[in-house]
Amino acid sequence: KEKTMSYDVIIIGSGPGGYVCAIKAAQLGLKVAVIEKRATFGGTCLNIGCIPSKALLHASEMFQHAGHGMDSLGVEVGAPKLNLEKMMAHKDATVKSNVDGVAYLFKKNKIDSFIGTGKLLGAGKISVTGEDGKPQELEAKNIVIATGSDVAGIPGVKVDIDEKTIVSSTGAIALDKVPDHLIVVGGGVIGLEMGSVWARLGAKVTVIEYLDTLLGGMDRDVAKQFQRILAKQGMSFKLGAKVTGVEKSGKGAKVSFEPVKGGDAETVDADVVLIATGRKPYTEGLGLEDAGVVLDERGRVRTDNHYQTNVPGVYAIGDVIVGPMLAHKAEDEGVALAEIMAGQAGHVNYGVIPGVVYTSPEVAAVGKTEEELKADGVKYKTGKFPFSANGRARAMQATDGFVKVLADAETDRVLGVHIVGFGAGEMIHEAAVLMEFGGSSEDLGRTCHAHPTMSEAVKEAALATFFKPLHM
Ligand code: FAD
Repeated sequence: KEKTMSYDVIIIGSGPGGYVCAIKAAQLGLKVAVIEKRATFGGTCLNIGCIPSKALLHASEMFQHAGHGMDSLGVEVGAPKLNLEKMMAHKDATVKSNVDGVAYLFKKNKIDSFIGTGKLLGAGKISVTGEDGKPQELEAKNIVIATGSDVAGIPGVKVDIDEKTIVSSTGAIALDKVPDHLIVVGGGVIGLEMGSVWARLGAKVTVIEYLDTLLGGMDRDVAKQFQRILAKQGMSFKLGAKVTGVEKSGKGAKVSFEPVKGGDAETVDADVVLIATGRKPYTEGLGLEDAGVVLDERGRVRTDNHYQTNVPGVYAIGDVIVGPMLAHKAEDEGVALAEIMAGQAGHVNYGVIPGVVYTSPEVAAVGKTEEELKADGVKYKTGKFPFSANGRARAMQATDGFVKVLADAETDRVLGVHIVGFGAGEMIHEAAVLMEFGGSSEDLGRTCHAHPTMSEAVKEAALATFFKPLHM
C-alpha cells in the first residue's frame, strides 16, 4: 500500500487566501501542501476576478482616453480603433503571468501541490480526487478551507447563466464582441467595473439596482457623486428596481423589473445581461457536513477569532467565511492563520481594510462611513476637499471627485476616509497606515505632502476637519 503523505498544513484552495497562507506557513518552517481543482493557481482573483478585470479596465480606459481625453491636451490621435481580440490577449497574458508566478512561488517555498478536488474526511484527514477519478488520501495536523466563493444568482428568480448572452463576471471578462446594449443587474463593485469596461468600448450600459443607491454600504456622499460621474460618462441607472425575470429572447435577452416601492413593471431588451448581484461562499463537495463542520445562517464556514472551525485543527479563511469578500482580506487572514498555526500571534485589524472600485475615476474607502458613525451614535467631524481645487488634478484634467475625512469629534482620531478621484485606490493607503497607528486628522493635516500631487487633497481634507483647508 502506498504510504500516506503527511503535512503540517494542507490548504484547500489556492486563491489569495490559500496561496498566501501556504507561502507564509512554508516561510515559517511548516511542511505545506495545497489542493486546487482549477488547472491553475490563484483562485477567483487571479483567474477570473481582480486581475483580468483590471487588465480590461486599464485597456478600455486607454481606448476611451485616446478617443476622448487627449485632444484638449493637444494630443491629436484621430479615432482609435478597437482590436478586442488583442485586448483579450493582453488580459489572458496578464492572468498567465500572475498564475505562473504563484506556481513559481510554490516551488521556491517547497510547497507541494495537488490538482484535484479536496474533500475533508475528518480531523487530520483529507482526500484529493484528480482527473483520473481516484481519490488519494493525505494527512495533516492542520487543514485550511480556503475555497472562496461563487456567483450568487438573483434571489427568487431563475436565471440560466450561459456565459454568452446571460453572463456572470466570468463571461463578462471574455465577451467576443462589444454588445450594443448591456444590462447589468446589480450596482455593486463588480457590476460597475465590468459595466465601465463595456461602456468605454462602445456599449450602451443600463444598471438595474435594488437599492436606491449604487455601491450599497459605501458612504452615501461618495456613492451619489460617483453616480453623477458615471451618468456623465453615459451609463444609465434604474435604482430601487427589483428584477423579476431574466430570459433569453431571440439573439439577446430581456430583463423584467418593477419599482421596489410598487408601481408599473417594465421589460427591457439587451444583447447581453450581466448578473452581478453578489457572491456566495463555496463549500460544495467539501464534505463539511460529514466532517461535522458547522456553517452559519448564510452558508459561510463558522470560525472562532483564530479562524478555527468547531472541528479542532480545521480552519477557514477568505471569501468562505464572514467579512468583506476582498482579495487582500483573504490574504491577510492567510498570513494571520499561518502565524497562528506556527505558534505565533496572528491578527487582522478588520477596522482598517481598504475597499477600492477600479473605475475611472476610482473610488476608495477605509474605515467607517458617515452613515455608520451616525448609526453608532459617534460624534464626528467632517473635512472635505474637491480635486477641482487641486493643482495637479487640474494639470491632468482629473478634477472629478473629492476626499472626505471623518474624525472623532473629541479625540480627533481618524475614523474613516473616502475618496472619489483619479488614483484614489493608491491614495487611500496613507489613510490606512495612519489609521493603523491610531493617528489623528491633525497628524494627517500636518504631514508634509509633496507638491503638486493628488494626495495634497487628502491633507487638505484633514485640515478641514479641525481648522480650514488652505486652498479653498
Ligand atoms: P478564491 O479566490 O475564490 O479561491 C478559491 C479557490 O479554491 C478556487 O481556485 C477554487 O477552484 C478552489 N476550490 C474550491 N473548492 C475546492 C475543492 N473542494 N478542492 C480544491 N479546490 C477547491 N477583490 C479585490 O480585493 N479586488 C478586486 O479588484 C477584485 N475584483 C474582483 C473582480 C471580479 C470579477 C470578481 C469575481 C471578484 C473580485 N474580487 C476582488 C474578489 C476576490 O476575487 C475574492 O475576494 C478573492 O478571490 C477571495 O479569495 P479566496 O482565497 O477566499 O478564494
